[in-house]
Amino acid sequence: MSEDKKYLTTASGAPVGDNQNSITAGHRGPTLIQDVHLLEKLAHFNRERVPERVVHAKGAGAHGYFEVTNDVSKYTKADFLSEVGKKTPMFIRFSTVAGELGSADTVRDPRGFAVKFYTEEGNYDLVGNNTPIFFIRDAIKFPDFIHTQKRNPQTNLKDPNAVWDFWSLSPESLHQITYLHSDRGIPATLRHMNGYGSHTFKWVNKDGEAVWVKYHFISDQGVKGLDPKVADQLAGENPDYHTADLFNAIAKGDYPSWTLKVQIMPIEDAKTYRYDPFDVTKVWPHADYPLIEVGRMVLDRNPENYFAEVEQAAFSPGHFVPGIEASPDKMLQGRLFAYSDAHRYRIGANHEALPINRAKSAVNNYQRDGQMRFDGNGGSAPNYEPNSFSETPKETPENNITPFEVSGFADSVAYDSDDHYSQPRALFRDVMNDEEREHLVQNFADHMSGVTREGIIERQLENFYKVDPELAERIAAKLNVEVPAHLKK
Ligand code: NDP
Repeated sequence: MSEDKKYLTTASGAPVGDNQNSITAGHRGPTLIQDVHLLEKLAHFNRERVPERVVHAKGAGAHGYFEVTNDVSKYTKADFLSEVGKKTPMFIRFSTVAGELGSADTVRDPRGFAVKFYTEEGNYDLVGNNTPIFFIRDAIKFPDFIHTQKRNPQTNLKDPNAVWDFWSLSPESLHQITYLHSDRGIPATLRHMNGYGSHTFKWVNKDGEAVWVKYHFISDQGVKGLDPKVADQLAGENPDYHTADLFNAIAKGDYPSWTLKVQIMPIEDAKTYRYDPFDVTKVWPHADYPLIEVGRMVLDRNPENYFAEVEQAAFSPGHFVPGIEASPDKMLQGRLFAYSDAHRYRIGANHEALPINRAKSAVNNYQRDGQMRFDGNGGSAPNYEPNSFSETPKETPENNITPFEVSGFADSVAYDSDDHYSQPRALFRDVMNDEEREHLVQNFADHMSGVTREGIIERQLENFYKVDPELAERIAAKLNVEVPAHLKK
C-alpha cells in the first residue's frame, strides 16, 4: 500500500475497494452477505447512540483553565488551589435539565454547570447548576420530581398539572421556583449566567482543620436573562441558540470567564446556625458569610468532536481530591451514588478511561476487566490488595477523610426546618426590583395557567401567600382566581 495517501479501511484496518457500490449477485442484485464492509457499516450505524442522560441530556461543552488568584491554602490543602498563579486545565459542560438531546436551549429550566478540573491529584468535579439552591433537599424525592418535569405517561406531553401538583405538595421547592421564574430562569447565553456548587462541601487544610464551603462562579460577562417571548421565538427558529453562541464566542477568541468565589463557614457554626447549612434549598446570606475570591476560570478551546468530548464527558460530585470532602447534605449524598451509576449504565464500567474523563495524573488501582477495557488492564501486575509486592499501589492514610461527629437515631427523618418561606421572601422583597417582581408574577401565572386539575392552584397560592401575601394576590389576579379566603383571616 502507498504510505503517502490516507486510505479508507474497515474497522479492522483492511483497505476498502469500493465505498459506493455494495457487492451484488450480478448487475441487479440481490446484495451478498459476503459484503462485510457493508454489513459492518450498517451495523455500526445502528449502534451510534448511547442512552441519553435521563436529566441534563442537552449540553454544550468547552475546554479551558482555572487560575488561582487568591491564597486559600489556610482553608484547603487541595493542590490545585495551593498557590496564587497555579493553573489547572478544566472542561465544562453546560446543560438544560428536563429536555431531550435535541430539545431547545432557550427554555425556562435550571442550567447544569459541571466543571472537571484535571488536577495533579486526580480529577475534581464540581457538578453544580446556575442556581444556588435546589427544588428538593432529599435524594429520595428526585425520581418523582424529575418525572413531573418530563412527559406525561399517557399523552407524552409536558404536564403542568404534574409539575404544580408536585411543587405545591413540596413547599421546600418555593425558593428554587422563585429563582427559576425570575429573569434568571432563561439565561441570555451560557456565558451570561453564574454557576453555583449549590451544596455545602468540606475543605480541609494541611493541619487537618476543616471548614464548610459553598462555591460561586460569578460570570465576568455579567448576568443577563432572555425575554420569555424572544426565548419562545428562538426555541422555534434556532433551538441550538445557546450552543451556537458558546461555540462561536470561543471560536472568535472572545473567551468567556468566571470568577470563583467561596463562602466559608467555621465547622462549629453549623451546629447553631439559624438555617441548617446542609439544606440545599437555602443559601448562606452573604452578610453572614461573605464571598472570598479564589480564582478565575477561562474557556478558550472548543471541543474537537462533540460525541467524544461532550457526550462522553462523565461528571460526578463524588470525584473529590485531598482537601475537599462531602458534607452530610442529603441531596448531595444521593448524587454521590447516582452520577457515576448513570455513567456506568450510559457509557460503561470503564468510562473513567475515556480520553475526556481520564485523569491527567496517574491512575493506579486493582479494578480490572469489564467491557471496553482498552488500556493494558493492569498487565501482569497483581489484581488484589493487600499483597506482598513492593511496586504495587499502596494506600495513603494521610488521605483518609477528616473524621466528623454524628449523633442521633437511624430513622427516616425530615430536615428540622420547615421555614421554606423567608429566603424566597428576601429574594422577592429585597433583591428584586419592581420590574423583576412584575416579570416573576407574570412568569408564574403563565406557567400555572396550564393547570387544570382541581385544588392545585389553591394549594400553591397558599404556599405563595406564606412567602408574601402580595405575591399570592398578584398571581391570583392574573389567573382570575381568588386567594383562598381562610388565608386572609
Ligand atoms: P444579598 O443582598 O447579600 O445578596 C443577594 C444576591 O442575590 C446577590 O448578591 C446576587 O448574587 C443575587 N441576585 C441579585 N439579583 C438577583 C435577581 N434578580 N435574581 C436572583 N438573584 C439575584 O442577600 P443575601 O445573601 O441575604 O440573599 C438574599 C436572597 O438573595 C436569598 O434569599 C436568595 O434568594 C438570593 N441569593 C442569594 C445568594 C447567596 O448565596 N447568598 C446567591 C444568589 C441569590 P450573585 O452575585 O450570586 O448573583
